[in-house]
Formats: sequence, C-alpha cells, structure tokens
Amino acid sequence: MFETLSRGFRQARNRLAGLTELTEQNIDSALREVRLSLLEADVEMGVVKAFLSRVKEKALGRTLEVKVKHAGETHEVSASDHFIKICHDELEAMMSHEGEEIAWAQSGPTGIMVVGLQGSGKTTSCAKLARLLQEKEGKKPLLVAADMQRPAAVEQLKVLGDQLKVPVFNIPGASPVEICAAAREQARKQGRDVIIYDTAGRLAIDEPLMKELSDIKAKTKPENIFLVVDAMIGQDAVKTARSFHERLELSGVVITKLDGDARGGAALSIKEVTGAPVLFSGVGETTDKFEPFRADGMASRILG
Ligand code: GDP
Repeated sequence: MFETLSRGFRQARNRLAGLTELTEQNIDSALREVRLSLLEADVEMGVVKAFLSRVKEKALGRTLEVKVKHAGETHEVSASDHFIKICHDELEAMMSHEGEEIAWAQSGPTGIMVVGLQGSGKTTSCAKLARLLQEKEGKKPLLVAADMQRPAAVEQLKVLGDQLKVPVFNIPGASPVEICAAAREQARKQGRDVIIYDTAGRLAIDEPLMKELSDIKAKTKPENIFLVVDAMIGQDAVKTARSFHERLELSGVVITKLDGDARGGAALSIKEVTGAPVLFSGVGETTDKFEPFRADGMASRILG
C-alpha cells in the first residue's frame, strides 16, 4: 500500500547510486523525488516541508563524514545508504511514540473511550481492541455499546462480542451518556478490568457530537481516548484528528484500512500535525487484523 511513498525514496536512491559524496546538489536532487511522492501520497504540506528540511540538514552534516570515510578507503560507504538511513530515522521519529499504547488505571477498571466518524471502523476497532487485550494482555474487557447514532452499531458490537466471548453492555432506550455512566458499575459486577466505550459516530464533526463526547468524557474520566480514522480518506483523516484532539485531548489514534490501497499520507502526518500519536492500525475486516503501530516497521516498509 505504500507504493506511492516508496517510489520517491526508490528514485532518490537511484539518483545517488554509485556516488560516494553527499553534496548539496545531489541531496536536493534526491529530495525532489521524495517531495513529489510525499505530496502525491497525501502527506500534509507542512509535514513534507519539515521532513525535507530536517533530512537536508542532517544529510549535509553527513557530507563530511562520507568524505572522511572515503579518503580512508572505506568502500562500503555510499551516499545513498547514508541518505536512506537519515530518511529512515526521520520517518521513524515522525511516527513514534513514548511508552505503552494503553495508560492503565492505578486502581479499578481502565477506561478506553473510542471516538470517530461513521464508517471509520470505530465499532470494529472496539472489538479488535477487546480481542487484543484479552488475548495478548490477559485482560477481561467489557464492551459498551453507546453508538446510538447508527441503528445497527449496537447489534454489530453484540455480534462481535459474542464471537469473542466478551460481554457487551447497553441499556435500551437510555442515552449514550447514561449508558457510559452506568458501565463502571456493570464492570464491577461482572469482574471486568477494562471498559471500552464505543461512542456515537456522525458523518461529519458537529457540535452535538462533540458535546455528547465531552459529556461522556466528563462522566467516565477514561484513562485513554482513542480516535479511529480511516486511512483511505487521506488528508481529511488528519483534519479530523486535529478537530477531535482540540476538543477531547486524544491519547492516540487508531488508523484503519491500512490493508487497502490508501496512500499512507495520513499515517505519516497525524502525529506531526496534531501531536497525538498513531497507536494501533487496522489491517483487515476481521477482529484479528489489528496491531500496535510500529514506527520503525512502518519506516522500513516505506523505504522498501
Ligand atoms: P463505524 O461506523 O466507524 O463503527 O465503522 P465499522 O466498524 O462498522 O466499519 C465500517 C466498515 O469498515 C466495515 O465494513 C468494516 O468491516 C470495515 N473496516 C473496519 N476496519 C477495517 C480495516 O482495518 N480494514 C478493512 N479493510 N476494513 C475495515
């Protein structure tokens, strides 16, 4: 899926092939290729500029190092290897995050509020997260069906919960805020140690949605707020993340549909633009297709 992104780095490597020196001229020529492919892959303009200038600055710094090694007849040194290594490190830094993906509660169940626009893959990601925590962390999650906006969402979560043997909590006729507020007591009764709130989606960001989500946040005080965004919507995913982060202070982003033919720009831009890191990625429709987002692995895949 990263073909558009990869192409520019491949062409940059070709431009530097056989050269043993990184000069301003050949760095600029390599970066022109990278620039085009980043823009084509929907990486946000400001992010592209910042990335290119950081790579250039570091590459110029390496010029001396390459020359010295060359004079010392260290033949394995190549300008292209140096350049690609710098790109790798910068890509990784743009996407990496500190510490664990999940902030655990000091006492009582850990709350994970999951928010996102309709169709982003929010409900599916709640179930995937429950599965991951159950299988990999030995946790006992409770899924809370509070997306009353999309009529089928509650049923969808129940079906997924049944498959995973994870209980799904809902109060028919109650408001999403009431449902979420009652979930903690339910978790206590059922001995569950993680509560995953599947909140209301909308087709677009609007005030009633943000108000409802803010109310749920205030009532449940979750340790984590994850926004689910669809990689296929490119730069709109970044705009969505910015708006949600401004209102809700996200702890991180789940980026879905990375298995599709998305160009990957959103994965690269989100942390740089919003400050909220991508923590998980959805890589398929079934509940096993979910993984922690690894910045180094992603950088390596992009560089081919
Ligand atoms: P919601 O409206 O945000 O709750 O979205 P859903 O969870 O219902 O997902 C919308 C569609 O996207 C469904 O058809 C899901 O199967 C699909 N979907 C969700 N995550 C992924 C993913 O990572 N990869 C792919 N290919 N499809 C996904």
